[in-house]
Amino acid sequence: MPLSDKFGRAITDLRISITDRCNYKCVYCRTGNEGALYGDLPFADYLRMARVLTGLGIQKVRITGGEPLLRKGVVEFVRQLAKLRTANGEDLDIALTTNGHLLAEMAQPLKDAGLRRVTVSMDAVDPGRFARITRVPDGYDNVLAGIRASRRVGLWPVKVNCVLMRGFNEDQIVPFGMFAREEDVVVRFIEFMPLEEDRVWSPNTVVPLEEILLRMAEYRPLVEIPHARSETARRHRFDDGVGEIGIIAPVSHPFCGHCSRIRITSDGKIRTCLFSVWDHDLHGRMRRGASDEELAEFIGGVIQKKEERHHIGEPDFVPASRTMVHIGG
Ligand code: SAM
Repeated sequence: MPLSDKFGRAITDLRISITDRCNYKCVYCRTGNEGALYGDLPFADYLRMARVLTGLGIQKVRITGGEPLLRKGVVEFVRQLAKLRTANGEDLDIALTTNGHLLAEMAQPLKDAGLRRVTVSMDAVDPGRFARITRVPDGYDNVLAGIRASRRVGLWPVKVNCVLMRGFNEDQIVPFGMFAREEDVVVRFIEFMPLEEDRVWSPNTVVPLEEILLRMAEYRPLVEIPHARSETARRHRFDDGVGEIGIIAPVSHPFCGHCSRIRITSDGKIRTCLFSVWDHDLHGRMRRGASDEELAEFIGGVIQKKEERHHIGEPDFVPASRTMVHIGG
């Protein structure tokens, strides 16, 4: 039985940030005022954390950052992770979230090492706009090559995540619909959350789920398809069956009641919610010589403190103690 929190939510999904560094400076995410703020750990430490957590019921591990592909040794890390088994003796479901800049060359080695799936972040499908958002010239072609390489080597399904912001890139909705069909990838739109460095979020900056659906329907009708309870995205297919569009709507349709996730930051802290105002120092305990049993006991206690829900848009909302890029999205 996986660990459950005090609200009865089973915790089966772990995200590990392996670096706080990033090679993109997306205007809403890493403002350029703040580079990496936190250190990272030897891979052996993340591996030990993953092993203890797997023993407690984790079934999926997503590697993230910062930009995880910047970290030398990531392929070997995947290979070691892939040797772990879930509490039921099954293979772990290992996934990676990346900006895709370095993915073209790494897709095959990652697949060979045991990576199953990849999610690539991309907030525009035209090269000029993409460069203005990421503040890196000529990144678009690299990312496109990374997406195509991932498909070719069978990192399936390839998901492309786009954060939509009002007045910024909402005109990309239909182009992304075409992109999903042409490139045979799952495009997922994500509502912008107040997790940015510059605190530019307001309710007006969010492009909500219903509006995305309406805009896309002007291009081609979408039909909703079933999604797993703990899945964050509402899934849709175009009416001719070609192209999948997901919408992740944590602001307009929160899914906290089904949240199965915990996160480990690059410096080895556990975060029980993206919007946590504190974190829990797992690595500190390791450094002080805790045994696996003591770590498991600590984690069990931390999971009982998992927040019931976020308070985005409410008068009592308190900003998270870290922004997205320093947590691991
Ligand atoms: N570098 C990797 C990447 O680009 O996917 C992993 C880290 S990045 C922080 C993970 C995801 O968080 C990206 O898709 C990014 O667009 C998203 N993100 C960053 N700030 C966000 C915000 N305020 N609201 C919603 N998503 C955000």
